[in-house]
Order: sequence, then C-alpha cells, then structure tokens
Amino acid sequence: MEDDIRRIGIMGGTFDPIHHGHLVAASEVADRFALDEVVFVPTGQPWQKADEPVSSAEDRYLMTVIATASNPRFQVSRADIDRGGPTYTVDTLRDLHAEYGPKVQLFFITGADALEKILSWKDLDQMFELAHFIGVTRPGFELSAAHLPADTVSLVEVPAMAISSTNCRRRVAAGEPVWYLVPDGVVQYIAKRRLYQG
Ligand code: ATP
Ligand code: MG
Repeated sequence: MEDDIRRIGIMGGTFDPIHHGHLVAASEVADRFALDEVVFVPTGQPWQKADEPVSSAEDRYLMTVIATASNPRFQVSRADIDRGGPTYTVDTLRDLHAEYGPKVQLFFITGADALEKILSWKDLDQMFELAHFIGVTRPGFELSAAHLPADTVSLVEVPAMAISSTNCRRRVAAGEPVWYLVPDGVVQYIAKRRLYQG
C-alpha cells in the first residue's frame, strides 16, 4: 500500500557550521513534499573542498545534532562520517537505502549552487535511480534543471536566506557575531570549541 512507504528527505552538507539556510530549506521541503522526516548527513571528507581546511567530522556532526535536536522530524546520520574517505552522494543514498529497507522513498535536497555542479557527481544515473532530487533556491544562484534528465529533479522556492557557512566562518574569525545566522546552541558550541578563530 502507498501509505506504507515512508518519505525521507536527505540533506547532505559539510555543515561547517550548519546555519538557518540549511534548516529553512529542509523544513520547507518537508512541508511541500509531505516528508515523514529529514535526515541531515554531514559529509566525511568533502571531495569538492579537498584544498580547504574543514573542521573535524565530530565538531560538524555535533553542531548538526544541536541545531536539529528540537525538531522531532529532523534526524542526523553518521553514514558519511563513519564510511570514511571522500563523500559521494551515491554512496550516501546506497547506505541509507540499506539502513531504511525497501519501504522508503528518498528525496535528496540540494541548493541551487550544488545543483549547478551535479553533472560532475559520481555515478549520476544510479544516483537518480536511488532518490528523487529537489533543488531549492539560494540567493546569488540561478535555480535550473535544464542540464538534467527530465523528471529527476523538482525545483522548490524556499524563503531566501543569504547565509553561507563560509561567511559564518569569516565572521567568527573577524570577531563579528553569528547570532541569528546559526541556532543559539551552535553559536555557543563554536565559542566553547574555539572554532574558526583563524
Ligand atoms: P560553504 O560556504 O562552506 O560551502 P554552505 O553554506 O554552502 O557552506 P554546505 O554545507 O556547503 O553549506 O551546503 C549544504 C547544502 O545546503 C547544499 O546543497 C547547499 O546548496 C545548501 N545550502 C546552503 N546554504 C543554503 C542557503 N542559504 N539557502 C539554500 N540552500 C542552502
Ligand atoms: Mg557550500
């Protein structure tokens, strides 16, 4: 029966740190697509960011847990962190399918900037078989699926949040506030662990 199928959103990201742009995108897509839950999956080693310093997986994982703890529909998966090595979305999707069993439909949520580059991702055809993709608007980027096979991607407009992790890291390094850009608990975690101090 259709009703037995759980609809699971997946929000992949480096989350260095997680911010309200990520959270609004997940919440909005969950509502629009009647998702039962959204699983945030912090990357192990992000292969697109091989040349940039990235905070430890544990710090990024804990910030993601702190940011999502109050929402009963938000979960966090260690799948990409525990697999080790560079993170490819096709592996994330395979692992989550294995974990959740056959009665799920996966929806992979991605911002307009990531969607632009998706043709370079590993095992694209298989990726599109394992999940339906949902591209969301992001200020400064054009949201388009013209470069992608028909029916693989849905496009969704979400409230515009001109926030990036890069900007949050720069602000912390410059001694500027990140209150209200990231959840309160994440502000406090960054200070406690002295992240992004430059
Ligand atoms: P960085 O600046 O370090 O790349 P980021 O803010 O882009 O960080 P990521 O962890 O790289 O955050 O992004 C994870 C996912 O969230 C990507 O699909 C990205 O497009 C999406 N995303 C990030 N910020 C926003 C935002 N403000 N609005 C919509 N989507 C976003
Ligand atoms: Mg990014």
